[in-house]
Amino acid sequence: MMHYEQIFDKIKHYETVIIHRHVRPDPDALGSQFGLKRYIQAKYPDKSIYAVGTMEPSLAFMGELDTIDDAVYDEALVIVCDTANTPRIDDERYIKGAEVIKIDHHPAVDQYGDIQFVNTEASSTSEIIYDIVESIGDTHLLNKEIATALYLGIVGDTGRFLFNNTTSRTMYIASELLKYNIEHTQLLNRLGEKEPHLMPFQGYVLQNFKLEDNGFCQVKITKDVLETYQIAPSEASLFVNTIADLKGLRVWVFAVDEGEEIRCRIRSKGIVINDVAADFGGGGHPNASGVSVESWEVFEQLATQLRAKVQ
Ligand code: AMP
Repeated sequence: MMHYEQIFDKIKHYETVIIHRHVRPDPDALGSQFGLKRYIQAKYPDKSIYAVGTMEPSLAFMGELDTIDDAVYDEALVIVCDTANTPRIDDERYIKGAEVIKIDHHPAVDQYGDIQFVNTEASSTSEIIYDIVESIGDTHLLNKEIATALYLGIVGDTGRFLFNNTTSRTMYIASELLKYNIEHTQLLNRLGEKEPHLMPFQGYVLQNFKLEDNGFCQVKITKDVLETYQIAPSEASLFVNTIADLKGLRVWVFAVDEGEEIRCRIRSKGIVINDVAADFGGGGHPNASGVSVESWEVFEQLATQLRAKVQ
């Protein structure tokens, strides 16, 4: 039996479905979560479908999350979207579900779930949700709300169709979703918006990146910098692509001191870097991965390995 059918059989079987995704949700985490929730609701109006986790304030316009008691998990199917490893699942109660399904497009880090559906060829988990809807023969159930969620997810993970995970299939799905009259210009503007108080920090990044001759670049955001600019670590991390247009850039790491650990967002223009992230306990895609390390000393080791990649 195809994975899609297996997933679908489970959804059909359970009266309650709880949908999780990764911590610090990005547009694809929320897009796949809300897109799947809205689709199941459209298909089975009598079932109880929940989307749980902590909202990222800048993406609150994408939808509203549900607050549920532990008891709801007893007879529930849990679906975890867009999350390669269990420590990154937002809301650890996912484990309480009667059965767990993983749907993801990241190279697997942890094997978890009774059914695992991973397609690393898909641009995004939102694209996979569309694939599921289509393969079940349910595209007639799509509506503006579902299309909006999935479109934002695809746009988010492809960097507005710029990254090399964008395929003709991605474009096809985007064009199908646009048929639902979603306000895509307005939504894309909203996705890119940044609070005015963050702009001076962008100036700091532009003045303090360290680009080396080999094309490796690092940006280190220490606690002092965060204090000077009065911004939160999560806000600082939004600026990972500020230097993306630098001529000669090949691999970069944007590291932010979060107090307990240092979050490193790693990007590349072609060179595979997720193996380095994995060496330090992280993961992600070949050209966009991440890891949290315990100190600036460990960060230097990470930087050394990334630098070796561009030699
Ligand atoms: P980010 O820089 O947070 O956008 O992450 C880029 C990619 O790396 C995403 O696909 C994440 O799922 C993955 N990633 C980021 N941090 C980690 C981590 N600590 N462990 C595993 N994967 C990660």
